[in-house]
Amino acid sequence: MIHHHPGDELLLPLAAGRLAVGPALVVNAHLEACAECRDRVRTLQAIGGALVEDAEPVALAPEAWGRTLARIDAGGAPPARRRRSPPAPLPLPAGMAWPAALSGCTTRGWRWMGPGMRYARLASPQDPDAKLYLLRISAGRSLAQHSHRGMELSQVLVGAFADGRATFAAGDFDVTDDDVMHQPVVAQDAECVCLAYIEGSLSFAGPLASAVGRMIGV
Ligand SMILES: [Zn+2]
Repeated sequence: MIHHHPGDELLLPLAAGRLAVGPALVVNAHLEACAECRDRVRTLQAIGGALVEDAEPVALAPEAWGRTLARIDAGGAPPARRRRSPPAPLPLPAGMAWPAALSGCTTRGWRWMGPGMRYARLASPQDPDAKLYLLRISAGRSLAQHSHRGMELSQVLVGAFADGRATFAAGDFDVTDDDVMHQPVVAQDAECVCLAYIEGSLSFAGPLASAVGRMIGV
């Protein structure tokens, strides 16, 4: 049972194809797990389509059609083929499969970030600079307390964590921003794997955690 979902402030731009690559990837990973949000996106797309149909036609600039034909004649890069392969070999917890949203992403694999804590930086072919991460934290471990400069999106892929606001389990989606200072603690019974997008940067409490944050690049 999924309890935490992305809001319309994310689903609406996603439905319109206007959400940036990094956040779209995390929201799409949520949609794979959540029929309720897939329905919501379909509804938003239908509303968007109806609005376009109702809109008054606007005259194109006289040269617009010529430019379009010129672009077609010039060819251009073929559309990227959507690869269904998972990111470069990353060991997974038993029984877990990577979301299809990660297709085409590459990674250099798990890196140590503390006792019982590993991370993997993901590079999306559409935007290699988007700060996308997989976090894999052992049962009972906690991330350092931190706040955010900008938005942080997380999709729980396996396991669960709690941070004082709520418990987030597999399938749940979380958004934090400048107003949230939290310390995610992984449940005692199983490790937790999350997909995360960090828009700005994280601000850690304490010099050691700050050093780890700089190492990871957040
Ligand atoms: Zn949902």
